Amino acid sequence: MKIAQFTTAFEAIAPPSIAWKGDNIGLLIGRPNQAISNILVALDLTDEVIAEAVKKRVNLIVTHHPALFHPLKSITPSTQTGAMALSLIERNIAVYAAHTNLDSVKWGVNYSLAGSLGLRNVRILSPIEGSLSSVTVFVPGTHADAVADAMHAAGAGMFEKYDTCSFRSEGVGTFRGGKGSDPFIGTIGNVERVPEVRLEMLAEQWKLRGIVSAMLKAHPYEEVAYNITPLSNRNTEYGLGAIGELPKAMGRRSFLAMVKKQLRAKALRYTGPDRTIRRVAVCGGSGSEFIREALAQGADAMVTADCKYHTFQEFEHSLLLVDAGHYETEVGVLPALAEAIGTIMSAAQHRGRIFITQSSTNPVHIF
Ligand SMILES: [Zn+2]
Repeated sequence: MKIAQFTTAFEAIAPPSIAWKGDNIGLLIGRPNQAISNILVALDLTDEVIAEAVKKRVNLIVTHHPALFHPLKSITPSTQTGAMALSLIERNIAVYAAHTNLDSVKWGVNYSLAGSLGLRNVRILSPIEGSLSSVTVFVPGTHADAVADAMHAAGAGMFEKYDTCSFRSEGVGTFRGGKGSDPFIGTIGNVERVPEVRLEMLAEQWKLRGIVSAMLKAHPYEEVAYNITPLSNRNTEYGLGAIGELPKAMGRRSFLAMVKKQLRAKALRYTGPDRTIRRVAVCGGSGSEFIREALAQGADAMVTADCKYHTFQEFEHSLLLVDAGHYETEVGVLPALAEAIGTIMSAAQHRGRIFITQSSTNPVHIF
C-alpha cells in the first residue's frame, strides 16, 4: 500500500474539511508514492518516537499533534524541529498528522476519552456547523431511482443511523432544445412539458464533487437542472467534545478518583461544588472554550485540560471542572487510531504491522 492510498482511505473516515481552519494536517513529510512497510502511531513526534520507528522498521509515523506547524525558514539541526525533519528524511520515514479532524470524529479523541470514563449515550458536545448542503435535481420519473441510487452510493442522504434519505415531489419540467442540442425527450425547437421528479438530499460538503459527478452520470438529460444550497444546520456526526452519562451517579470524591485512575493521571486540578455527578462532558486537550456549552447541556462535570486560573475561578460555583492534563486526556485515542489504520490496511491486504508507541511523549512532569 502506498502512502497516497492510505491518505485517501484515512481521510474518508477523518475528513480534513472538519479540521480547524489553519490546522496543519495530512502528509507533512514524505513522498505519496512511497510504499508503506510498518506504521507507528503516537500523540507527538519526539526523538524517542523516531528511534522507535527506526528500530521497528517503520516508514510512516502517524501523530495526533502536527510535527510541523509553524513555517520553517531552514531545515538544519539548529532547531529541534529541523533536526527531527532531517533525521526523518534521511531515514526515508514519512510523517502524517491527524489533529483536529481526529478530535471531531466519533471514533476519535473525545469519544475515546468518554469511553475511558465509562460514559453512556455519548454524543458530540459541539457539532460543526456549515458542513451540510442540500442537493436538488430534476429528473424524469423513469430515471429517479437510478439517479437517487447513484447519489446515495456517492454518500448523499446518509444520516447517523439512516441512509438512502431523500425527498421526492412530482411536477412538470419545461424546456426547448436549441440548434445543436440532442434532447432525451421531445424534439428540437418544441417547448416540451415533461413530468419530472424533484429529488432532494442532504450531503456533507466534502462529498459534493463525487455526488454531482455520480448524479450527472446516471441522469439521462444532456443538460441537467440541479442546484446545491449550503445550509447552516448543525452536523451532529462531527464536532468537538463529547457528552454522556455515567452508568451510576457518584459524588465528587469518587468521580475524581475514577478519572484519575482511568486516565492514569498523576494529579488532577479541579474546582466546583460537591454535587452528585451524572452527566459528564469531555474535551481532550485544551477544551476550556466548550465549558459553557457543557453547562448549557446540563453537565454536572467537565473533564478537559489546559485550564487557566481565571477559568477555574469563573466556573467555581457552576460545575465540577477537572483538568486532567493534555496528554492524559488525549493518549487514549491511540488504540482507536491504530485500529482504524489496521482496518484500512487489511482492506488493502497490506501485511505491515501497526505499533502504538511505547514511549510517553508527555512533556509535562509532576514533581
Ligand atoms: Zn492536543
